[in-house]
Amino acid sequence: MPTYTAPVKDMQFLLHNVLKVTASDTPGYGELDEGFTAAVLEEAGKVASEVLAPLNAVGDREGCVLENGIVRTPKGFDAAFAAMKEGGWTALDCDPEYGGQGLPYLMGTAVGEIFVSANMAFNMYQGLTHGAYSAIHTHGTDAQKAQYLPKMVSCDWTGTMNLTEPHCGTDLGLMRTKAEPQEDGSYLITGQKIFISAGEHDLAENIIHLVLAKAPGGGEGTKGISLFIVPKFLVNEDGSLGARNSLSCGKIEEKMGIHGNATCVMNYDGAKGWLLGDLHKGMRAMFTMMNEARLGVGLQGYAQAAAAYENALAYAKDRLQGRDVTGAKNPSGPADPLIVHPDIRRNLMEQKSFVEGARALTFWAAHLIDRSVRQDDAAAEGLVSLMIPVIKGFQTDKGFDMAVQAQQVFGGHGYIEEWGMSQFARDARIAMIYEGANGVQALDLVGRKLAQDGGKHVMAFFDMVKAECKAHDGDDRMKGFTEPLKLASKQLQQAGMFFMQSGMKNPNTALSGSYDFMHLMGHVCLGLMWTRMARAAYDALDGGHADRDYLEAKIATGRFYMARQLPACGMHLARIESGAETVMALPAEAF
Ligand SMILES: Cc1cc2nc3c(=O)[nH]c(=O)nc-3n(C[C@H](O)[C@H](O)[C@H](O)COP(=O)(O)OP(=O)(O)OC[C@H]3O[C@@H](n4cnc5c(N)ncnc54)[C@H](O)[C@@H]3O)c2cc1C
Repeated sequence: MPTYTAPVKDMQFLLHNVLKVTASDTPGYGELDEGFTAAVLEEAGKVASEVLAPLNAVGDREGCVLENGIVRTPKGFDAAFAAMKEGGWTALDCDPEYGGQGLPYLMGTAVGEIFVSANMAFNMYQGLTHGAYSAIHTHGTDAQKAQYLPKMVSCDWTGTMNLTEPHCGTDLGLMRTKAEPQEDGSYLITGQKIFISAGEHDLAENIIHLVLAKAPGGGEGTKGISLFIVPKFLVNEDGSLGARNSLSCGKIEEKMGIHGNATCVMNYDGAKGWLLGDLHKGMRAMFTMMNEARLGVGLQGYAQAAAAYENALAYAKDRLQGRDVTGAKNPSGPADPLIVHPDIRRNLMEQKSFVEGARALTFWAAHLIDRSVRQDDAAAEGLVSLMIPVIKGFQTDKGFDMAVQAQQVFGGHGYIEEWGMSQFARDARIAMIYEGANGVQALDLVGRKLAQDGGKHVMAFFDMVKAECKAHDGDDRMKGFTEPLKLASKQLQQAGMFFMQSGMKNPNTALSGSYDFMHLMGHVCLGLMWTRMARAAYDALDGGHADRDYLEAKIATGRFYMARQLPACGMHLARIESGAETVMALPAEAF
């Protein structure tokens, strides 16, 4: 079965050498000294390796079971959930006013990667609760916050997000779930939601469903949608649990992966709910949380790849097959380990360079979210909002690809279930779909984010890349990073110009190229991250840092990414510039 070891050294390098957290003026960062962050990450790593990872395959095998309206989670999940609560892990970056520890979102993100790598399906119970917590924290009244948040911070009560209906996924304007206002100020919610993660389970005393529904008077489409708090058990004035609400889980889905997480059909039959945020502004309320939610899914993408890579690497060092073409490396044995073969090396380098690059991008984005929330930094908010569809779409596509590549290192042993490698690929697959399918992320990027605020944020991004390259002008060692990055950034700008010039004439042109644009930008983002990491590694080497092997490997991995992955930008640009003609050439009936 797979093992998991938290990448504490790599995370520490990002926090202290690349992001230089203690020197940052972001409130709360000054306290993140090396000793403190190491202690938190190592402790999280211990929980992940000893408690969560051993349950990953159990969850996959057993799945969740619906019996008489009750969903049973896999054996061991309840004890592990209790241990997570007991350890305070559910409260890490939550508001101290409601029982949280108040650590920066960046620390929650780093710890989140560790837990998601160890057991993605399990971590979703807590992850969705955090999403619902954020929604109530941002949009709730003081009374709602006092009523729900302390129990959600501790995960005594968990949370869900209910958007999807059978006939409406991406196009939420088609929503049918209704909210009827009552004289006491509450609403009665009626309708069916599907695919609701953690919709019903046996891990918590209560489940706080956040449900999108249409209340009268809001008009057609998404404009009429409002967001409601709909608890499984009604909550009395004194905080104790009251009557069971009129909602139930009708079914749990059989699915490709994340078997340990219950994906539920939820029936609301006149369930009592309370408005969260403004009436008919439910979509706006959802959007304010989208950066965090989509970053979380982008994290799932590379976190699964990270765990898969760790196991592929161990296997490549252990499995003996064939001989090194340049001379035996294990002459006393029957064959050399797989890792001697250049094609296996290519495969492992692709995984390693993606995982470390994506980790850097995710941590940087989490830092920008902290700046935007804790410092009201509008530029940081604009930049992160531009990059979120890239982080979600690119990292989950590549994360899945890399989990498949890790499987490939095992040959046939990766395909059978015994080694646990197929679970990484199966679990990673959903991240490409939920929280807005990746095609829709590309649409969001090209159709909305590029032009947002007059294109200010994308211009700021290009300026940042330019400044990064310029900063290393005098250092020849950095040329292997800055030259490919300059070219890739130019190609990205050229693609943007192409959209501007041709998109006005025919909107299909931009939309046919949007997916390639998302990937092109993903490579530029990772190229930028590798340039920053290389700079930090050279600085540490120059400063006499003790761990030379780690730093030299970091630089070599970055060189690989720049030389072997960034050239994909040219391909994406060529596809984009070919326009919509070949994409749209066939009429629908000719397919
Ligand atoms: C395991 C699992 C867990 C989930 N958890 C939750 C949850 O907790 N809460 C919740 O509310 N939902 C949840 N979902 C639902 C998920 O968010 C939706 O499946 C997703 O948003 C896509 O909606 P859909 O499946 O209806 O696909 P559709 O909207 O029918 O889209 C199908 C395809 O068409 C593409 N497409 C659609 N419109 C356009 C367009 N205008 N332009 C270009 N392409 C387009 C999409 O990218 C997609 O590839 C979950 C789903 C699964 C499978």
